[in-house]
Order: sequence, then C-alpha cells, then structure tokens
Amino acid sequence: MRVSQPPPNLSSIERLPVDQIARNADKVDKDAAFPNENITALATSGFLGLIVPKANGGHEASNSDYAAVVEEIGAACASTGMIFVMHCCAIEAIKTHMVSDTASQILSVAAKGQHLSTLALSERGTGVHFYATYGTSQLKDKGYLVNVEKCFATSGGKANSYVVSARAVKSEDPLKSTLYLVFPEDAGVSFNGQWNGLGMRGNCSIDLSVKNAIIPSNRLIGEAAKGLDIELSSVLPRFLLGSSSVYLGIAKAAYEAACLHVKSRAYQHSGQALQALAVVQRSIGEMKSSVDLARTFNRSVAKQWDEEGQPPLIALMEAKLLSCKTASAVTSLAMQLCGGIAYSGALPVERHMRDALAGSVMAPTTDMLLELIGKAALGLPLL
Ligand SMILES: Cc1cc2nc3c(=O)[nH]c(=O)nc-3n(C[C@H](O)[C@H](O)[C@H](O)COP(=O)(O)OP(=O)(O)OC[C@H]3O[C@@H](n4cnc5c(N)ncnc54)[C@H](O)[C@@H]3O)c2cc1C
Repeated sequence: MRVSQPPPNLSSIERLPVDQIARNADKVDKDAAFPNENITALATSGFLGLIVPKANGGHEASNSDYAAVVEEIGAACASTGMIFVMHCCAIEAIKTHMVSDTASQILSVAAKGQHLSTLALSERGTGVHFYATYGTSQLKDKGYLVNVEKCFATSGGKANSYVVSARAVKSEDPLKSTLYLVFPEDAGVSFNGQWNGLGMRGNCSIDLSVKNAIIPSNRLIGEAAKGLDIELSSVLPRFLLGSSSVYLGIAKAAYEAACLHVKSRAYQHSGQALQALAVVQRSIGEMKSSVDLARTFNRSVAKQWDEEGQPPLIALMEAKLLSCKTASAVTSLAMQLCGGIAYSGALPVERHMRDALAGSVMAPTTDMLLELIGKAALGLPLL
C-alpha cells in the first residue's frame, strides 16, 4: 500500500492505507454505507492501536502523530476519519480511566485490530450539550442497571463497544454522570434508525437504546459520578484535535481537487486555460495559504500538548474552530473554481463541501467554541 505522506515518527507501524481508503470514499458517500473495508484496512495495518499504550501492544503515538495520521485519513475519506477519531476518543477514556482488567483486554484487542470503539454521549433532550445526560443508573448485585437513550452514536451497530454516560446512582443532576463501557451484545442494548446525513454519510451515526441493561462494575470508566470530569479532561481534548485534523484533511482534499481541475480545464473555442486566469490563481493561493495556516496551528497545538503533557484545552478549541472554518471556506472556494462540473457531482468537491458542514454542527459547535473561548478569555467559568 502506498502512502501519500508518511506519518512522521511512526517507523514501527505499517503505513496508512490511504489510497485504498480514498478509492472507497465516493461509494461510501453515495451509498451512505459504513466503510467496512476502510476500517478493516486500518485494523490490519495496526492503526486501531495508534494511541494504545505500548504495554498493551499499541503504538502509543504522540499527539503530533495522531494529528498527522487523522489528517491523512480525513483527506482520503472524511467518514472514515470521523469513525477513527471516535474510536480514539473511546480508547482515550478506556486507557486513561478504566482500571479493571477489561481495559487491558480491550486495549490489546484494539491494538491487534480486532476492536472498534466509539462514543455514545449525545441525547435528544440535551443536544449539543453532550456532557449532560438524563440516563439513569441504579446499583444492582452484579453491577449497574442502566437506562438511557442516545442519539448520533457514530459507528452505531458496527462498533464493538460504546462509551455511554448516564446520571450517577441516586443523582437527579444531568451533569453528575457515570461512564460505562457498553457492549452491543449486552441484554437491553439495541440500535435504531438509519443514517442519511447530508455529509459524513458513512458514519452510521444512529440511535443507541440501553434499556434495563446490567453493566458489570468492571465496565465502569473511571470512578462513579466522575463522568463530566473524564469527558472534559480526556475525551474532549482527543475529540478536538481529532476533529480539527479531519476538517483540515477535508480542506486539503478540496484544495488538491481544485488544483487538479483547473490545471486540466481549458475552453474549446478560445483555448483559455482556467489556471491561466489571475482570479483562479488568486483563489488557489487563498486556499493553499488557508490550509497551510490551519495545519501549522493544528500541529503547533498538538506539539504543545506533547511537550507539556497536558492538553491545552482552549488552544485545542481554537484549532477545531480554525479547521472547521477553513474547511467551509476552502470547499466553497473549490466549488466556485470548479463550477458546474463540481456541482454536478462529477468531482469529489461537493462531497468535501457536505462533509465540511458537519464541523459547525458537531458538538462543541462553532458557536459554542466561540462562546467558550470568549468565556476563558474573560476569566469566566466554562460551564
Ligand atoms: C455527523 C455527526 C456525527 C456525530 N457523532 C456523534 C458521536 O459519535 N457521539 C455522540 O455522542 N454524538 C455525536 N454527534 C452529535 C453531536 O455532537 C451533537 O450532539 C448533535 O449534532 C446535536 O444536534 P442537535 O440538533 O440536537 O443540536 P441542538 O442542541 O439543537 O443545537 C442546535 C444549534 O444551536 C446551537 N446552540 C445550542 N446551544 C448553544 C449555546 N449555548 N451557545 C451557542 N450555540 C448554541 C448549536 O451550536 C447548534 O448549532 C454527531 C453529530 C453529527 C452531525
């Protein structure tokens, strides 16, 4: 398998199967089909263990490597990129907070490419406020009786495990939650609906219902009632860097598609080449500098996280904000440059444009990020 840009410092890992992932992207989008082949390709090349500790057979990749890998996957197929990011977010919670033997078992099988995980935090009632839950937990002899209805669970029905939040035992407070690792084979777990999104069409982001399921206590992620802390300290930083890298990948892919198109397009009657027009050159320059700027910022935030050992939360929010805005602007410009041919669906540009739109509606959304960054700048509490 050929790699378009080898991930840095990942000599021990087989190279990313980006060509294969990119080949499947159009069909995944058209059919709104879960990218099984792409996930298998990532699994067999060791990437499901990208951030798994070495002690569990993983690659224990740095945040910089994670950002570089996700950008490449996102450029090849945004749906695959987002599924991969959700897997890494769940792995982050498991490796950092789950203390039972179940954690090491899951991490080991993920490193072997035999376990895909994901997040199921969102609920209809709380929308973008993914950290709030109306699920319930009760103590039972064998563990916890959990009831909760989740929505938008990426890889729904496809993943091997789900990080699920529900209110802590005896708590009425939607912010006082416990995180559980739920298996699809647990009695009471079912998946509903079909994903037919405008973009990210391979995501399979569907409803997950947990009805009277007994979750054994060895599947608690972190301490009971500490869900919010874990979401904010571990899951959110991993998600912010991952999603900013996916959107950066989308922007890069749209820029590259636009370059290819304007280089090959010339008018029959005049011989005028698109790339010879100053306005086209200027737009290409704008796209390239936007992508380069967003990448430079994204990589610098990832590096800061590597160097400091603590996630720079506000900078990570800014990275997602910048990448999402860049993806929206660059895909719009690419559509403008490539014209009706792009609009007709003959080029991947319209897919990139639809995929990019998810950035501003996936929590924390662009509006929420601006508000949070503003609050932090004013010294106000974030929640
Ligand atoms: C492709 C995709 C994949 C997803 N994958 C997952 C997943 O794997 N796991 C998961 O748990 N969830 C996932 N989600 C859910 C996602 O994170 C959000 O929870 C969901 O999109 C919320 O949708 P909603 O219509 O309920 O938004 P609403 O909560 O109704 O919000 C509507 C709009 O109002 C704005 N808004 C609301 N409150 C505020 C505020 N206080 N300040 C500023 N603006 C505000 C929002 O920014 C948003 O634009 C996914 C969503 C999408 C689209």
